[in-house]
Formats: sequence, C-alpha cells, structure tokens
Amino acid sequence: MKFKVDENACIGCGACQAICDEVFEISDEGYAVAKDEKVTDEEVKERAISALEGCPTDAIHSDEEED
Ligand code: SF4
Repeated sequence: MKFKVDENACIGCGACQAICDEVFEISDEGYAVAKDEKVTDEEVKERAISALEGCPTDAIHSDEEED
C-alpha cells in the first residue's frame, strides 16, 4: 500500500506525522509528504490508514482507496 499527500489540500497540521512518522513527514515547505515506497508492515499500515482517515482536509490518498 502506498500513500500520497495532496500538497494543495494539506494545511500542515502535523497530525499524520504524529500518528505515523514512518510514512509522513512535514517538509520544509510546511506540508506533509508521504514516503514514496510501499508500506508493507501491517502495524505501520494501520497507523497510516488512521492518518488518512483522520486528516482534516482529506489530503491523504492511497493506492487502495477504501472508505
Ligand atoms: S493530517 Fe492532513 S492536513 Fe494535516 S499535515 Fe497531514 S496531510 Fe496535511
């Protein structure tokens, strides 16, 4: 599973990084970026999905959109 952040929608609140810093980090530009690699660890994946679902602006997307 891969994650992507829409930098136009992200408000840089930092919630995704707080939940799953293995996948998300806040860039110098002030918005979140997701690591461009497949997340295979189940525990990390679950937290990354929580971050996706918890993003206040729905800026996080995955290659397996499930809602
Ligand atoms: S939770 Fe959403 S709005 Fe907040 S930093 Fe992450 S991607 Fe951006």
